[in-house]
Amino acid sequence: MDAQDSNELKPDLMSFSKTMQTLSNPLNSSVAAQSESFLEIRDISKVYPTPGGDFVALDGVNLTVKEGEFICLIGHSGCGKSTLLNMVAGFHQPTSGMITLHQKPITEPGPDRMVVFQNYSLLPWKTVFENVYLAVDAVYKDKSKGEKKAIAQEHIELVGLTEAADKRPGEISGGMKQRVSIARALSIRPEMLILDEPFGALDPITREELQEELLSIWREHRVTVLMITHDIDEALFLADRLVMMTNGPAAKVGEILEIPFSRPRMRSRLMEDPRYYELRNEALDFLYRRFAHDEIEE
Ligand code: ADP
Ligand code: MG
Repeated sequence: MDAQDSNELKPDLMSFSKTMQTLSNPLNSSVAAQSESFLEIRDISKVYPTPGGDFVALDGVNLTVKEGEFICLIGHSGCGKSTLLNMVAGFHQPTSGMITLHQKPITEPGPDRMVVFQNYSLLPWKTVFENVYLAVDAVYKDKSKGEKKAIAQEHIELVGLTEAADKRPGEISGGMKQRVSIARALSIRPEMLILDEPFGALDPITREELQEELLSIWREHRVTVLMITHDIDEALFLADRLVMMTNGPAAKVGEILEIPFSRPRMRSRLMEDPRYYELRNEALDFLYRRFAHDEIEE
């Protein structure tokens, strides 16, 4: 478990430090126009060169996301969800097609799009406070040390970790580590929060708690969320729309479910709504009948 954790830490830390290197860009103004085309994914493909020839992971992916929307992305393992999110984050470029934010092509990571990974990607030798402060310090060049400390503390408080601020990642639970990642991402006021199966490694109770926290943060911060999940119930609880991807190779958006439940949402109320089961069945039908996948997960 530990060995696997440290293996998985590396690519995310690399992605994170890549973000940090580009964080010196001026912050995008958050008075973004209420344009319909906040994020546009237009006809993109992604081809990976492999020793056995080109592998077409995605082909003809289209999606328009409105400002402030909460989008969940679901699809079988290996269909290309992370590939798509990494291009929105700016870590990779599409092979063809274009992704734009406010009509500007995404060419690199930036502080307007912060990513939260499943395996936390915290610096293990830094405390909770220092992990958050690092991001704040990299972005807010003009603020004083005191102001930056206050911003870091405020976001640590937002996720309920004030008491643990001086602990290191090895001394806190998985749920707490994921709270730190979320605090760090939010501390620099991104326009988009991009989450790649953020709660996948957590126990069900912690997962539900964090889902609720994420919803209230999303409401208060008016951030646009793009989140990959494996869990249909999680998506139905959180999302405005559930984007379901077809299987790869050459995966694309297969179907989009509008989630009509009013907000704020209460889990127990949703469970009583007959539409909940209709949507759930539709998603299950898509994933396990129309795009059933019998390969063993890697
Ligand atoms: P998901 O996140 O949906 O599980 P990924 O986006 O990680 O899927 O991967 C999509 C497909 O692309 C998989 O078949 C994977 O093996 C392949 N793939 C991902 N990254 C690379 C890479 N760097 N080189 C070659 N193939 C890759
Ligand atoms: Mg993935």
